[in-house]
Amino acid sequence: MSDKLWSTAALATAMKAEVRGEPADWIGGISIDTRTLEESDAYFSIKGEVHDGHAFAGAALAKGAALAVIAEDKADELEAVTPALIVPDVLKALEDAGRASRERCKGRIVAVTGSVGKTGTKEMLRLGLEGQGATHASVASYNNHWGVPLTLARMPADTRYGIFEIGMNHAGEIIPLTKMVQPDVAIITTVEPVHIAHFPSIEAIADAKAEIFFGVKRGGVVVLNRDNGQFERLVSHAKALGLTVATFGSDASCDARLVRADPYDNGSMVTAVVAGEPTTYRLGAAGRHLVLNSLAALLAIHHLGGDVNEAVTALSEFTAPKGRGARITLKVGKGQALLIDESYNANPASMRAALAVLGTTPAEGRRIAVLGDMLELGTKAGDLHVELADAVEANADLLFAAGESMRGLYDVLPAEKRGAWAPTSAELTPSVLAAIQPDDTITVKGSLGSRMGPIVEALAQRF
Ligand code: ATP
Ligand code: MG
Repeated sequence: MSDKLWSTAALATAMKAEVRGEPADWIGGISIDTRTLEESDAYFSIKGEVHDGHAFAGAALAKGAALAVIAEDKADELEAVTPALIVPDVLKALEDAGRASRERCKGRIVAVTGSVGKTGTKEMLRLGLEGQGATHASVASYNNHWGVPLTLARMPADTRYGIFEIGMNHAGEIIPLTKMVQPDVAIITTVEPVHIAHFPSIEAIADAKAEIFFGVKRGGVVVLNRDNGQFERLVSHAKALGLTVATFGSDASCDARLVRADPYDNGSMVTAVVAGEPTTYRLGAAGRHLVLNSLAALLAIHHLGGDVNEAVTALSEFTAPKGRGARITLKVGKGQALLIDESYNANPASMRAALAVLGTTPAEGRRIAVLGDMLELGTKAGDLHVELADAVEANADLLFAAGESMRGLYDVLPAEKRGAWAPTSAELTPSVLAAIQPDDTITVKGSLGSRMGPIVEALAQRF
């Protein structure tokens, strides 16, 4: 990259770094991973769970990095690593760079949190805004203690719209991140029992999401899901901080109101009213939950000063990523079947959403759910699996299930809905492959650790 992202002098000042050697005047980007590093990036030697980035600082320079940022307690050991910026703590230095980046930005910033739907909503915001001015957004789900400062530090000075995903597994994690980002607008997509093993109650999860409000700029707006059970609780947190609340949902009082959504061409055709203006648009991926996320994005765009009409036309380009609703056509004999790949992850909320999509996808044949255990649900795991029975009954003709927790759900279904159960996804695969017929619609979903991805691969390979 040849862009002038940061002058080396300004970066060194922001991080109170000691300069070693003679670095170039400018750096073009920021990297924490030599595998994706580009020429003229500044390489930050971050310590991860497995590796200490200092081990790769030399390789980063050999690959063309403009300089390496290293910790002072490693400086002697790594004396050959030059040019370098030497700092007391590399992660703190990245945070300093992020804060400096925020300070110099004159654009408008939106931050997204929520139990599910953060990345999807972030992508909708990016699609909706990138035609309207220089837009900078988090990569993938870079939403944690290093992902957020990294995304901030990478933000070009002339950014008009900055879009940040902020995530958490525990209470207290969002506060420092939102204070770095200082959003003008914050979205909470929804509050659901995800990572509930780390929380005493759903209210405690809501409180942890509401931490995002602490960083919102004075006079800022929070965009909240009116349909969610924790709505009132979130409103009271926002009001206590003097923030303006804007709402999305199906209620007539909502600032972004869903009028109707119908399945259309692998996505949805949506009719809505956003900030008083009626609008109709196609969203390129299926599911009412995604339609609601799109309303959150459009309402945020309105409050960022963007053009909602321009944004809606871009939303037809939104597609479900691999493992998160992407669609694969299978050739079954002389006919076809549709595979919906939801294998990347699962929790009760996204399971319900995926089952609803299965039930509403126009289909000639049977609807088949292939589900693996939802993990990280602690002592509530058993109940949260069995509670999906109504959603399975309403939306699927057959259930194939893998894992001990899924056994509970499988066993409460009527006999005609039970396809097969096996302790692991590998042992379930042959029964699934044997069952597929032309015109079937098959959704495969489970937590990452339940390894449902290989079932998708086996289906795609066999058919
Ligand atoms: P992560 O914490 O892994 O970064 P995320 O919050 O970024 O997750 P997404 O990647 O956008 O979430 O979506 C994850 C899954 O949740 C997808 O399968 C998506 O279809 C589903 N999902 C998205 N929004 C909702 C919602 N509002 N309700 C239920 N499920 C949803
Ligand atoms: Mg994400």
